[in-house]
Amino acid sequence: MFVDSHCHLEDEATAVRAGEAGVRVLLNAGKDLDEMDGQLAMCRKMAQLRKEGKEAPLMFTSAGVHPENAAQKLSLVQTDDIIRALDDPLVVAVGECGLDYHYGADSILEQKEMFWRHIEAAGKTGFPLMIHVREAEDDLLALLDDGIKTFGRIFGVIHCFSSDMVFAKKVEALGFYVSASGILTFKNAEDIREVFKSYALEKILIETDSPYLAPVPFRGKVNEPAYVIKTAEKLSELRGLSLNDTAEQTEKNFFKLYQKAADYLKTEGKDVG
Ligand SMILES: [Zn+2]
Repeated sequence: MFVDSHCHLEDEATAVRAGEAGVRVLLNAGKDLDEMDGQLAMCRKMAQLRKEGKEAPLMFTSAGVHPENAAQKLSLVQTDDIIRALDDPLVVAVGECGLDYHYGADSILEQKEMFWRHIEAAGKTGFPLMIHVREAEDDLLALLDDGIKTFGRIFGVIHCFSSDMVFAKKVEALGFYVSASGILTFKNAEDIREVFKSYALEKILIETDSPYLAPVPFRGKVNEPAYVIKTAEKLSELRGLSLNDTAEQTEKNFFKLYQKAADYLKTEGKDVG
């Protein structure tokens, strides 16, 4: 049983296909609060299919504003808006949020302010943060530090981890999870493989970030959650584990980080499948 801990899905057929391939849990990550209604509708549809005994994956979502939308939403999304969006039992994380100076070099101040609102939302509610970071690692760590000083505890995951070992050691020391994407299978990703070889095994998740970043041998195609198994295979190889053990461990890690997802599963009264 596999978990895709971070994907962006627009159609139900892709989700059902993932379920049939053995990817039984999906976290359909939010990029903008405007899209929450649609995301929740899809999660509820999957929940309904499961109730009817159909082969559908368990689907969760998250509430946040991606750094690429930060400048545009700065006057529209306050901390309380993010907190309100966490209400539904199927919303399990704050994010995706963070800093991206690769694509957003002209909106650094807005991104920092918007990320801080997510840290506040997480700090005030105890939810985990689902973090995107690209070429902004030092500023991100500084904001997380402020968050920890202000709220005592800030935790979460660096999704689609693609930073260096120095940053990995720092977030590991803070107790953060890291998530491996299809990049783990790329030929030129030796540095990232080194991170996943040594990072605390109980703090590793797997994801597709679909529709982007399809793993080998699907590179260049549209990615989908079913392909998360390719990343799991690579992680198994790196850690000397069976594919089954890798699936089990990363599933356990997912439900440990996303406690609300574990609580939801209990109310559903069945196994993930
Ligand atoms: Zn994403």
